[in-house]
Amino acid sequence: MNNFTFKNTTDIHFGENRLDTELAGVVAPFGKKVLLAYGGGSIKKNGLYDRVKRALKDYEVFELSGIAPNPKIDSVREGQQLVQKNDIDVIVAVGGGSVIDAAKVVSVAKNYDGDAWDLVLDSQKATAQMPLIDILTLSATGTEMNKNAVISNPETKQKLGTRTLRQPDVSFLDPSLTFSVSKWQTAAGAIDIFSHLSEQYFDQSEDSDISRGMIEGIYRAVIKWAPVALVEPENYEARANLMWASTMALNGTVGLGNVNGWTVHPIEHELSAYYDITHGVGLGILTPRWMKKALSAETLPRFAAFGRHVWGLLGDDESVAGEAIQATFDWIKSLEVPTTLPGVGITDTTNFKAMADSAVAVGSLTTHGYVSLNSEDVVTLFEASMDNDGF
Ligand code: NAP
Ligand code: FE
Repeated sequence: MNNFTFKNTTDIHFGENRLDTELAGVVAPFGKKVLLAYGGGSIKKNGLYDRVKRALKDYEVFELSGIAPNPKIDSVREGQQLVQKNDIDVIVAVGGGSVIDAAKVVSVAKNYDGDAWDLVLDSQKATAQMPLIDILTLSATGTEMNKNAVISNPETKQKLGTRTLRQPDVSFLDPSLTFSVSKWQTAAGAIDIFSHLSEQYFDQSEDSDISRGMIEGIYRAVIKWAPVALVEPENYEARANLMWASTMALNGTVGLGNVNGWTVHPIEHELSAYYDITHGVGLGILTPRWMKKALSAETLPRFAAFGRHVWGLLGDDESVAGEAIQATFDWIKSLEVPTTLPGVGITDTTNFKAMADSAVAVGSLTTHGYVSLNSEDVVTLFEASMDNDGF
């Protein structure tokens, strides 16, 4: 196990209907001027916007709206101007990963004089951070309890992860706020959680029993409850399990002591950067192909453990490992999302090389990945994603 230092600073308010009575008090210590950040309008349709405005009735509220999925740097720039011009004290971000990620970078951009994109390219440029409170509306990213943010720049065709100085100060996790999430986004969110777990389960460390034991439990919960949420969107237990899985999969806990060499995420970010596809759907296409590529005599024991402890399979290592990869593919398919690149509208192969080069340059897949991937390997993964042959 590698050395680690761990401190998690986000206060979690988990449960139904807490924001109506608790939000005002939670905001109070941070100031009177609030930036309310949200996306394309889902919170207006489901009534959450009105509830938040009511809770913040004694505050001066400024709004940053229209933050798009795969949040664009222009939204962050707009937020930076708003918080600087009005000397805003605190951000309340209401939405999924895109809204919260954009709000995070706005929170460090208040005290930065240059272009906010600089802070994405180099997180070291951030010197101070505004308080940030979020109300999570989609279970997927774990951003509600970590320092990460992923921002896109359409001009440069880049989608890059960065880190802010602090985690959100407070996160409201109300599973009932996700009742209105579409099938597509519910599935994509569940696959994102599954991928966060996979990135940490398939890790170079050999002796991380604590990490792998925790991950196996969260995997089982996601596998069980995602299909339930799809057919029963208002099933509270399903939504609650997915929400806490989202947080626990990526709040730092399960990867402690690991090498942490993420592979599929940097590759997916290229797909989203070039084609603006839904992050979780892209991960769902790539993950089973990556697993097939990663399986070897050397990695067989890990895949067999994955098959036994996550999928409940029985048999010898080889058959269990193969069946586990097939079960992963079948589960993703059962969530009614496309399982090939043409299924998400990517039919031309001309960008594969450039995307692969960029994934290798940005990520640490060659050096720290569970199995080392070079640019040619990544091109092979993209090519294998053009059809479902072999699954
Ligand atoms: P999202 O992009 O925030 O939201 C996707 C869509 O779902 C939006 O159209 C949004 O609509 C809608 N939506 C959200 N909540 C809803 C609700 N309660 N009811 C109905 N519709 C709702 O999705 P996400 O998966 O949470 O975030 C994806 C982004 O996070 C990607 O950019 C990904 O790369 C990044 N990410 C970040 C981390 C991290 O640690 N920071 C980790 C993994 C991925 P509105 O816009 O209208 O609200
Ligand atoms: Fe992700």
